[in-house]
Amino acid sequence: MRRKLAAGNWKMNGLTASLGELQSLASAHPDPLVDILVCPPATLVSAAAQCCATLPIAIGGQDCHAERAGAHTGDISAEMLKDSGACAAILGHSERREHHGETSDMVRAKARAAHAAGLIAVICMGESLAQRDAANTLDIIAAQLALSIPDTSTAENLVIAYEPIWAIGTGKVPTPAQIGEVHDFIRTRLERRFGPGVGRGVRILYGGSVKPDNADTIFRVPNVDGALVGGASLRAEDFSPIIHALS
Ligand code: PGA
Repeated sequence: MRRKLAAGNWKMNGLTASLGELQSLASAHPDPLVDILVCPPATLVSAAAQCCATLPIAIGGQDCHAERAGAHTGDISAEMLKDSGACAAILGHSERREHHGETSDMVRAKARAAHAAGLIAVICMGESLAQRDAANTLDIIAAQLALSIPDTSTAENLVIAYEPIWAIGTGKVPTPAQIGEVHDFIRTRLERRFGPGVGRGVRILYGGSVKPDNADTIFRVPNVDGALVGGASLRAEDFSPIIHALS
């Protein structure tokens, strides 16, 4: 059975004082039935990991470089994230694909680096509204799956997040049928490429405007193994009911 995963993406939010939210979250979930992962900005990874060392909350980064080290001003390697106490990295988020020109080939290289460093790669993919309106969603997902996921993937070191771009930060959420169609498609493709063992073991998260009031409906969709939550992960009082809905 796949263990459910509630992952929070703080994006470019959070100062040292925000670490208190992790304490609050852990107090609300002392013995969670699901995995909890919080990905704060890079500046907080080390402090967050120390703060959560004895708490049931894992810490991750939001990106990493494809190379191990070198002349890359401002970048962070997977090994550095691991060294800071992270166990995972979000890769290929649409904000990075759009604003930093990340292609699926680059995402795959980063994911390979994450795997080499012993990190779980949480690889994001999703269609734009124009692509959905043109009935291209599954073609887009197929291409992103084929190119973004490295061959080093296992059931343990890969998590996929389906995040329709038009649902991120907009309050718009696909219907359960639309979510189910893409998650089933991803599952089938994973099984075909990696075999049933790995294919059935990889967790597939839904992301995009997940809130306490819609989490239940989303989590009832087959092949939804959890959520990647942006805005509603910033405060424990919002993230906590989402974790409860998954439990
Ligand atoms: P949102 O963001 O929950 O604020 O829509 C999700 C994401 O970008 O991962």
